[in-house]
Order: sequence, then C-alpha cells, then structure tokens
Amino acid sequence: MSGQLWRKNLINITPYVAGEQPKSDDIIKLNANENAYPPSPRVREILDSYKPEDMRRYPSADAGPLREALAKRAGLSVENVFVSNGSDDVLATAFRAFFNSDKPIVYPDITYSFYPVWCELLKIPSRTVPVGEDFHIDAKSLYGEGNGGVVFANPNAPTSLAESREFVRDVLEHNRDCIVIVDQTYVDFADKGIDCLDMINEYDNLLITHTFSKSRSMAGMRIGEAYGNAELIKYMLAVKDSYNSYPVNRLSIETGVASVQDEEYFQDTLKKIINTRQSTAEALKGLGFEVLDSSTNFLFAAHPKFGAKDIFEYLRDKGIYIRYFNKPRIDNYLRITIGTDDEMSQMIAQIKAFMGA
Ligand SMILES: *Cc1c(COP(=O)(O)O)cnc(C)c1O
Repeated sequence: MSGQLWRKNLINITPYVAGEQPKSDDIIKLNANENAYPPSPRVREILDSYKPEDMRRYPSADAGPLREALAKRAGLSVENVFVSNGSDDVLATAFRAFFNSDKPIVYPDITYSFYPVWCELLKIPSRTVPVGEDFHIDAKSLYGEGNGGVVFANPNAPTSLAESREFVRDVLEHNRDCIVIVDQTYVDFADKGIDCLDMINEYDNLLITHTFSKSRSMAGMRIGEAYGNAELIKYMLAVKDSYNSYPVNRLSIETGVASVQDEEYFQDTLKKIINTRQSTAEALKGLGFEVLDSSTNFLFAAHPKFGAKDIFEYLRDKGIYIRYFNKPRIDNYLRITIGTDDEMSQMIAQIKAFMGA
C-alpha cells in the first residue's frame, strides 16, 4: 500500500497539445504555422562548412553572437536581447522571472494555449478576459491595478488578428506596475506599423518575444528571442543560468546569425507568403467562408453551412493537415497555415470536392 503514497506528490498538469507531426512526407502540412519556404541559402553555407569537431565544445552560454546580430538588426544593444531554445523557452523563462506576484496575470481567453499551461506548471495565478465578438482584444479588459502581469500575442493566434500600436501603448499606460509581455511571433507578416520594438526604450516594464520558427523558417533549430530593457534581460539571464546554462546549441547560434544577416531573402520570403495569404483568403471567401483579416502566416476561417470538424477530418483523410480546436467559441473555425501556392490550390480543390462545389 505504501507504494501508492508517492502518487499524491506527482505533478498534476494538462500539457499543451501541439499540431500533429505526421511521419509521412507525402502530406501537405498546414497545421503548425511552419514556413512554406526553406531558410536563407546562407544557412546552407554554414551547414556545408560545419566542422563536427566543433561539437565537442560547449556553445556560447548567452548565445552572444546571435544576440549581437539581433541587436544590430533592431538598432538596440546586446544588453537588450535575450535568446533561448525556442520562444516557448523564452516565454517560460520570462514567466519565471517576472510573474511572481500573488495577483493574477491576465491574458485573453482566445490566445496561444501555452500561456495557461505555464501558469499551471509554475503555479502562477491567472485570469482570462474574453476577446470581443469580432475576436479583437479589448484593451480596457487588460487594464488593472490588480494585475500581477499581462501577456498577449500581437498578432494574436489562432485568430490571426493584429491590434494597433496605440492598443499596445494603451495597455502599457494602464499597467505601469507589472511586466507586460507582448508575443510578436507573427509580427513580420503584419503591417510594419504594428511593430512595438522601439517601445522598450520608453517602457521599462515591456518585454517583447519573437521566434525563428515561423517567419525565419527555422522551427527545427529551436531559436527564440526577447527584447527588453537591460534590467529585465539581466533577470532572464539569471533564471536561464539557474536551470540550463547553454540552452542554444552551436549550430543554432551560427545558422541563426546567418539568417539574421540575410535581410533580402527574409523580406522576399515574407512577400511570397503574404501574396499567397491574399489569394487563399479570396478563394476561401469565394466558397462562402468567413475569413478573418490575417496579419500572420495562417488564416482563421469558418463556413456558415459546413462544420469545421467535418472539413478538418475530410482534409486529413486526403493527406492535408490543418488545425481544428475543439474549444468554446472557436470550435467552428479552422486554422490554416499558408503553404506554397501549389499546396493552397490542392487544399482549395479538396475543400471544393468536400462541398460538392
Ligand atoms: C509558434 C508560437 C510560439 C512558439 O514558437 P517557438 O519559438 O517555436 O517555441 C510562441 N507564441 C506563439 C503565439 C506561437 O504561435
């Protein structure tokens, strides 16, 4: 019997469920917002000249060269940049470093579903606020003396909607006593006008997170970054050094630098995806879908006559993987990652077949 007692001390958590990663190459994978195009050719050059004997050595503990490249591109100093093993790790580090209040942290009810997972894991009290009927976030709902912290994604996922810089400023003006984290994972696909990187010089409680996984086509390398004032970054480095001194491996640092230094290729890839997003949204609207105005590399769409789950299952049978969320408010919506033009035509053709159109 005593053998059972240890069970009461086991961790009790509901983990985040990521999009399926099917084994076969013979599918069209539009379910994890990965990039449709490969990373910069300069990344290939790094791989071609890589010496395996370098692997014997630990990497730079603070991913120095990558922080420098990112700081240079952003016109900031290296003290303003933190880098870790994917932005999931960056966010988890930030939650640990900044959300230690007894007051709840606040985030929208429809947003990146990792936020509640970390709150549970790290025992951070939290509170959600509903997004509007139109799925936009209400800035006022995030106001608060009573907030232990605020986190939201802009553009948001899975809604694909962006809020303005004025919105972000409004939230910051009404949260001077806690850290506000803005997850800018998808900002490169949005109108340049919503980037808030420069605001870190104005608000010492603002942390912006970003990742190489979506716009830089490097999800497999696990690189994410955060920007904030030097004091915030110092605390994040201290948390990192308290559980893993070398979260970013050598190859990720080197290929990451190569990616950051190829601005032209980066912009070209973004343009292609934005064009395909436009044509796919139009095609879906032509089939009667309601498609939200996307500022990301995915579309959030619903059909008034056909159930999202039915479409999702039909497409999966045909080898086309998109995302369906069995969650209140969004269970009739599909989240579709923007692939290549060819992948999008195949998907539209299958949706047409499903609808008998
Ligand atoms: C994909 C995603 C992330 C995590 O990205 P990684 O760097 O791959 O860990 C974080 N936030 C949002 C909103 C995302 O969609």
